[in-house]
Amino acid sequence: MALVNEHFLKLSNNYLFADIAKKVKAYQVSHPKQRVVSLGIGDVTQPLCPAVVEAMHKAVDEMATKATFRGYGPERGYDFLREAIVKNDFLPRGIHLDINEVFISDGAKSDTGNIQEIVRWDNSIGVTDPIYPVYIDSNVMIGRAGVLEGGKWSNVIYFPCTAENGFIPEIPDRRVDMIYLCYPNNPTGTVITKDELRKWVNYALRNDTLILYDAAYEAYIQDDSIPHSIYEIKGARKCAIEFHSYSKTAGFTGVRCGYTVIPKELSAVTLDGSRRIELNHLWDRRQSTKFNGTSYISQRAAEAIYSPEGKAQVKETIDYYMGNAHIMYDALTQMGFQVFGGENAPYLWVKTPHGETSWKFFEALLYGAGVVCTPGVGFGPSGEGYIRLTAFGDRSDCQEAMQRISNWQNGR
Ligand SMILES: *Cc1c(COP(=O)(O)O)cnc(C)c1O
Repeated sequence: MALVNEHFLKLSNNYLFADIAKKVKAYQVSHPKQRVVSLGIGDVTQPLCPAVVEAMHKAVDEMATKATFRGYGPERGYDFLREAIVKNDFLPRGIHLDINEVFISDGAKSDTGNIQEIVRWDNSIGVTDPIYPVYIDSNVMIGRAGVLEGGKWSNVIYFPCTAENGFIPEIPDRRVDMIYLCYPNNPTGTVITKDELRKWVNYALRNDTLILYDAAYEAYIQDDSIPHSIYEIKGARKCAIEFHSYSKTAGFTGVRCGYTVIPKELSAVTLDGSRRIELNHLWDRRQSTKFNGTSYISQRAAEAIYSPEGKAQVKETIDYYMGNAHIMYDALTQMGFQVFGGENAPYLWVKTPHGETSWKFFEALLYGAGVVCTPGVGFGPSGEGYIRLTAFGDRSDCQEAMQRISNWQNGR
């Protein structure tokens, strides 16, 4: 008899975007003529840039000829891409990585979800709150997060990020074994300064804490003083794993490619305290058993964004999305909303007026303006009383959404 992993059952009824889709569908049934504008789900809308498309066509042609056909690639990824990453994403920031510290992935979701496999099930975990749900859910699935009680997991330590503390999480006053940080942040769109990040690195070094740093949105940073990588902070090589993704950087949500950095100095200790084990080695062992690499075509596509044309084209798309963010930020602020994020990230985090709950405001916005947002509470208890808007839409949709919200507000 096969028994199920009952930890999975703790997760049911907790899928945010399915709940949203259900509510939008109900609205559309009662308002068949109204077009809904979605500023909800965090998918991109602009196509791949020409440099990427050209590289993919070329890679497909190589696959079509016996002499240049590629089968299984190296599990860690092709050297051409890992070299491009080390040279373009890190060296200009004064970070020296060996290519064997870089693991090519099929995206940051898999790696941020899978990384917890290489540490013991009874490590304590800490997350900034609200947060990208993958970090917690992947720990729930193996029983590390405990049980859900009043919107919080019993074994998870939450670091609230709200308007009250300026979205700056407080360094814990106790030991936490693993901490997830995501900057620029999804969902709040806020960033962390070097000084604040240094506090986390120093905390981690003092407490032998493993930091899991998700940099999926680093390409959206506009302010030169904001760190793009945790390795800009001294000592981070000893305490942090960093995740990157081409999904938001270059519209790869459907192509699938990202990478994870695990420095050679990073280690964790055995239960009896007698040995320190290199996490780079453990992850390599894990990946070579469970992962067979990202497709050659996707890796050639990713390499292309580091060419001069690729860089310029990717920047153009990011500028387009950040232009949307600007328009939305200005419009909503002018309407009197309290708006956060949107300056170094493609997300705007909006305080609901009059203390309305996230879901109540979600419904009011849907029925009042035909605009879909994401209720903040779906990202954690400290998200209650906020909604998230994304800047990944078409310019015209953004403008129309702002017009509709304005009309609705004037009549409220
Ligand atoms: C979108 C996103 C990712 C990227 O996921 P992929 O699997 O690379 O598409 C990772 N982390 C966060 C916080 C995200 O929002």
